[in-house]
Amino acid sequence: MSELDRDALKQEMIFWRRDLHAHPEFGFEEKRTAAFVAAKLREFGLDDVAEGVGGTGVVGTLKRGSGNRAIALRADMDALRITEQSAAPYRSGNPGIMHACGHDGHTAMLLGAAKLLAGEGGFDGTVRFVFQPAEEWGKGALSMLDDGLMRRFPFDEIFGLHNMPGLPIGHFETRAGPIMSAEDNFEIVLKGLGGHAARPHSGNETLVAACALVTNLQTIVSRRLSPADISVVSVTELITDGTRNALPGLARILGDARSFRPEVSAEIERQMCIIAEGTAAAYNVSAEVNYSREFVPLRNDAELVDAAFAAAGSVFEPANIAVARQPMTASEDFARFLDHVPGCFVFLGNGETSAPLHNSSYDFNDDGLLFGTNFHVAVVRQRLSGETGR
Ligand SMILES: [Zn+2]
Ligand SMILES: [Zn+2]
Repeated sequence: MSELDRDALKQEMIFWRRDLHAHPEFGFEEKRTAAFVAAKLREFGLDDVAEGVGGTGVVGTLKRGSGNRAIALRADMDALRITEQSAAPYRSGNPGIMHACGHDGHTAMLLGAAKLLAGEGGFDGTVRFVFQPAEEWGKGALSMLDDGLMRRFPFDEIFGLHNMPGLPIGHFETRAGPIMSAEDNFEIVLKGLGGHAARPHSGNETLVAACALVTNLQTIVSRRLSPADISVVSVTELITDGTRNALPGLARILGDARSFRPEVSAEIERQMCIIAEGTAAAYNVSAEVNYSREFVPLRNDAELVDAAFAAAGSVFEPANIAVARQPMTASEDFARFLDHVPGCFVFLGNGETSAPLHNSSYDFNDDGLLFGTNFHVAVVRQRLSGETGR
């Protein structure tokens, strides 16, 4: 098959990316985005395009040759509830929603890879193009898996990528083992007896107890967990039912914890319960801890990391390929797929002047599009060369 013109493809991808950017949709509401993706995949001539997988997910399947191995490439489609600060002509047309994490770029890059691989081939086996909903919720991957993803569209391994503000365009990073953290959420409810602000001794107000508890929670990471285990416990909200001259009888403390091993997550919860009960007792109020696990840790498969670096060698300048120095304490829904097959998640530069992810001024850098597409294609051709096998 003839080679597709890369510059023409880049221009086409910029057009898709900006169209997606102008029409952002929140998790599980990606109807227009999913229809856009499915229409493009059909236009490229894929063997099968399935819509409505796990809600608004789309899976495209492309087969070439007689190889019986299958590889999945994954992109995320959802946007965030953030009001965009931008003068770009393609800025969000949906008030209060914006592509502040670059999933518009990820979707365009994977569409580009589908177009290239459908047009040029160059591999032997099956490629599954997995477009997942609701990555930001940490629910979209599970939703596709619960809808029979592995049974209906089986694959042996999976690759995914995320753009990285601060990393220059054309730069590539990943690492073996832990690369992104688990995310747990917690709510601690303190109950006492509110009353007159002038008569604190006649009740058991909860605000002073809550303040002490917020401080005591800082000792989980600093004094209860091994310094060798990277973890974070952040209190993000303190809400009471008090008012100007009335002491609160209720206080809610909410927050977020990150870790890289299930044992550490379990220990954070256990220590939180001990500290909450002890602190509440000291202030003669009651405490209830509600702890939930939203994202699991993302651990890259060592062999597939080697494969990713090898594929990257044909796309990026050697000096621009690096081992990520440390895992990130942000979380990624991609980790859910790794409960089923080995996989590798990588970072691509979004430029040194890029606004941070989830910032209202963030925008995906279109100069990174072709790097992501070429990486996807290189991985497929390397892993489905007819010679690889685990
Ligand atoms: Zn995000
Ligand atoms: Zn993201």
